[in-house]
Amino acid sequence: MKIRKEILAVVLVASSFAVACATAKAPMPASVTPAAPAAAPTPAPGPVAVPADDDLNAVVWTQLAVEHDLVFQEIYRAAGEKLLAALKDPAWDALPRGERTGPLAGLPPAVILDVDETILDNSPYAALLVRSGKEYDEFSWRQWCLKKSARPLPGALEFVRSAEGHGVSVYYLTNRAVDLGPATLANLREAGFPAPPESFLGLGTVVPGCEMVGTDKGCRRRLLGKGHRILMQFGDQIVDFVDVASNTPDGRRKEMAPYDSWIGERWWVLPNPTYGSWEPALFDNDWTQSRERRRKAKIDALRAE
Ligand SMILES: [Mg+2]
Repeated sequence: MKIRKEILAVVLVASSFAVACATAKAPMPASVTPAAPAAAPTPAPGPVAVPADDDLNAVVWTQLAVEHDLVFQEIYRAAGEKLLAALKDPAWDALPRGERTGPLAGLPPAVILDVDETILDNSPYAALLVRSGKEYDEFSWRQWCLKKSARPLPGALEFVRSAEGHGVSVYYLTNRAVDLGPATLANLREAGFPAPPESFLGLGTVVPGCEMVGTDKGCRRRLLGKGHRILMQFGDQIVDFVDVASNTPDGRRKEMAPYDSWIGERWWVLPNPTYGSWEPALFDNDWTQSRERRRKAKIDALRAE
């Protein structure tokens, strides 16, 4: 019975299709023939109009390449293994030379981490800029920060939790403005990081007796160093580790050269191809120049042999 019903259904469908085809093919009387609609043009294969963006590949790599995640994991995993040796060595200190002014003995251990592109992933903000064709501006950046939706970068949570588990205090030394502190701390907590109010040291934190220059982190590092032995620092830019006197390609290399043996030991540098002080170093730190002029300066700075 079931089979017969199915056969009947097939016959009916086939018949309907045949009738439909026959109807379509039948000539219509001229008097009722409507004007033939203009055929829709077939899109010709060819270039697609998508505006170029200097940051596209960098944001794609950051957000979608598994290699990005693996690099973060390997850095934080290696740091976690080194942390125990750092804890045991009473002379181990990650403050830049000259920033330690008092004795080290007896100070409780701490680690200093930058926030953006070090432990929190702001690539969705960068993706918004790529899609809109716009560049960074303070207003849209603040709006993004206030959303409190940045995700943790791979490996960061595990490292921070492990450090805390070993009795190491964790401080977030960031150039997010101080008034973004509550939103940033809420974002960090939501992401799973320990984030007591005193752990946030934003741009504008007043450090008695220390005059902050620009966005330098030196005063805030010294403040943390007064009360702690700093076991490690983490950041995606060299200014997260040491104040840079001259932000030129040569000046940047010279600033880091004395600390070469600290990299991967006391200082841990995370990759960030989307932005950083390395970029304006190539066009005299002059953001008032047009995009085209900045782009030309970068292309001119490339080494091609
Ligand atoms: Mg950063």
